[in-house]
Amino acid sequence: MKNLEIDVLCFAAHPDDIELAASGTVSKLCIEGKSVAIVDFTAGEMGTRGSKEIRAEEAKNASKIMGIKYRECLNFPDGNLSLTEETEKAAIICIRKYRPKVVIMNSEFERHPDHEAVHKIIRKAMFKSGLLKVETTFEGEIQKPHRIRKMYSYMQSYEFLRKPDFFVDITDSFQTKMDAIRAYSSQVFVPGVSDEGGPTTRLSRPEFLQEVESRAIAHGMLVGFRYAEAFYSVEPIGFKSLSEMVW
Ligand SMILES: [Zn+2]
Repeated sequence: MKNLEIDVLCFAAHPDDIELAASGTVSKLCIEGKSVAIVDFTAGEMGTRGSKEIRAEEAKNASKIMGIKYRECLNFPDGNLSLTEETEKAAIICIRKYRPKVVIMNSEFERHPDHEAVHKIIRKAMFKSGLLKVETTFEGEIQKPHRIRKMYSYMQSYEFLRKPDFFVDITDSFQTKMDAIRAYSSQVFVPGVSDEGGPTTRLSRPEFLQEVESRAIAHGMLVGFRYAEAFYSVEPIGFKSLSEMVW
């Protein structure tokens, strides 16, 4: 497992970030035959509900539901994530290992500080992974630089501070998205499965899943799809031809 050359690399602070914010898009990519990897910076061990072990199991099941090829956890401390030399280097190693064509990541303005930290880490790592003089090694070998400009943020707790740049039609993958979210029964309310006696969180309220659906409908409504997920691009978006927009 040296250079994997996958299509889309997803960065997240916690296991369940991708599922909540972008799993319709991700599972659709997998159905279309694209290779997708997820890198979670933390194991989510500070979550009010569940444990590190439970969340790892849930992430495994959710990955199967979405059709993810690779998933790894970097095991940085949950609740204490920030841009440091260590986190930056770990991200550069991942970018150079997976050599993606597209990266998706948390948004820069978020309720959870770890989400904002991932955005900062990846912004810097994306730039530095293209620099020849930034040396990293993986499995004992020096990695080659990897430079891409396609990096998009997904919407999770907060709306973006700007208009989304594009929406992905997730009408066909919406049920898969909800199944992937329900795989986290320690976090969200799944009747008959979740521990109803545990502490209540924003996610564990029975109405939370309705809120997820409402947002997907609201985003879809803006662009004429039944359900959609919103993204913004860090760099200006360029097309090789306008035919990429003709479907
Ligand atoms: Zn999170």
